[in-house]
Amino acid sequence: MSGGRLATIWLSGCSGCHMSLLNLHERLLPLLERCQLVYSPLMDIKEFPDAVDITLVEGAVGNHENRAMAELIRRHSRIVVSLGDCAANGNVSALRNPCGRTPVLETVYSPPPPGAAELEERVMPLHRIIMVDAFITGCPPEPDRIAAAVGELLEKLAPSS
Ligand code: SF4
Repeated sequence: MSGGRLATIWLSGCSGCHMSLLNLHERLLPLLERCQLVYSPLMDIKEFPDAVDITLVEGAVGNHENRAMAELIRRHSRIVVSLGDCAANGNVSALRNPCGRTPVLETVYSPPPPGAAELEERVMPLHRIIMVDAFITGCPPEPDRIAAAVGELLEKLAPSS
């Protein structure tokens, strides 16, 4: 293991982009040999760490919790990547936007469960909330495109000899 510190996270998404990452199967191993996975839904780490080099973000920003996490990710990451179309343009997660927040809440949650994250009025792509450095589009992005993009970013981070 060497190279940068990698994090992955999902906000308002379906987890399909992470499934696509896992669909690299054994091809995930050489990628993980080039970096240290420091935070991910695939691991049991509760706090988003400091000094992350690359964070892959699946999903749009749909509630206040997502917004706070997006802002934290930005403060703690050198490179933030929108992973998939929900992060990049809202996609499926933003289908509720034409309805407005209140009808959605009344229709789906009546009453909203205690402790439920408060919905934003509109679901936003990640770059409307924080600065994003790169985009890997697709619903979900193909596994090899994710691996190629992360590989290139790790290459850029590597100290030149
Ligand atoms: Fe799911 Fe597609 Fe959105 Fe990824 S881009 S979270 S696969 S709906």
